[in-house]
Amino acid sequence: MLRPFELAEPASVGEASALLARHGEAARLYAGGTELLLAMKEGLVHYDYLVNVKTIPGLGGLRRDGDGTLRIGAAATHRAVERDPVVREHFTALARMEADVANVRVRTVGTLGGNLCFAEPHADPGALLQVFDATVRLERAGRARTLPLEALFVGPFETCLEGDELLTEIAVPPLPPRSAAAYLKFGFLERPSVGVAVAVTVADGHFADARVAVGSVGPVPRRMREAEAVLREKAIAESPAALEEAGRLAARAADAVTDLHGSAEYKEHLVAVLLRRAFRQALASLGVREPS
Ligand SMILES: Cc1cc2nc3c(=O)[nH]c(=O)nc-3n(C[C@H](O)[C@H](O)[C@H](O)COP(=O)(O)OP(=O)(O)OC[C@H]3O[C@@H](n4cnc5c(N)ncnc54)[C@H](O)[C@@H]3O)c2cc1C
Repeated sequence: MLRPFELAEPASVGEASALLARHGEAARLYAGGTELLLAMKEGLVHYDYLVNVKTIPGLGGLRRDGDGTLRIGAAATHRAVERDPVVREHFTALARMEADVANVRVRTVGTLGGNLCFAEPHADPGALLQVFDATVRLERAGRARTLPLEALFVGPFETCLEGDELLTEIAVPPLPPRSAAAYLKFGFLERPSVGVAVAVTVADGHFADARVAVGSVGPVPRRMREAEAVLREKAIAESPAALEEAGRLAARAADAVTDLHGSAEYKEHLVAVLLRRAFRQALASLGVREPS
């Protein structure tokens, strides 16, 4: 049963932040409500004031800077990101990932910002956005800070957001030329059991850069830097062995936990498998044939 609450409709970030500061623990930001209202209906949490971020002008938009950086307002819905022509053309892996989040009803109201701020470990965007080196802008009345997305996630359902701060924007820089990203997930429940994101840059038959992030497996989505280091500067001709090693390192570093979505061992196995497949998919999209 949903207990009564007041819904505030602020017209600016400053107003929203001031409302959060004034009401303290009794207030919470509300975007699509797909997570929050469920938790409130279940009686897991209760807030007297919900502060609607969707009424703040500009927070739902997407735009591309002159340098190619994609700026996504925190209140942009998954559906808006998935269908945006610029995202589809220049950040194809992001559009594909968004198209596969939840179902169309959730994607139509649920926001990218809400997904990241809820920090549910079994979610997709946190891993993929990290291989793009995405940053997040956190704002409160009179102060703003920009952090790498990785720093937002502190633990399951826990972020570094302070009580009166809002996530206002996710900035996604373009990958360098001759680069591609891919995100693969596997799950048998509503949410993913394992998600692996990769980005690769190729030059003269070798990996000029390789980025890997793993989500859903452990407490928070994370970059796998040891696995990346194994691949960087390797010749594509050596990639089967290098990908094998990178998969092993990523599986070990993923902090896999046993839960409803599978055992830690099962998830580790999937990390290695999905990592190899994701790199193959990214290389194929660049027209690079990986030796078998
Ligand atoms: C049936 C179902 C299936 C799903 N499957 C998937 C899936 O496959 N993959 C996946 O990734 N996700 C999945 N989800 C999660 C879905 O993506 C999220 O529910 C959605 O993105 C959350 O956004 P929201 O706008 O509804 O957030 P809300 O529920 O409104 O808010 C969630 C939390 O974020 C906080 N918050 C919201 N906006 C801000 C902001 N701008 N600044 C600071 N804090 C903020 C709120 O205070 C709240 O604590 C699923 C959800 C459902 C219900």
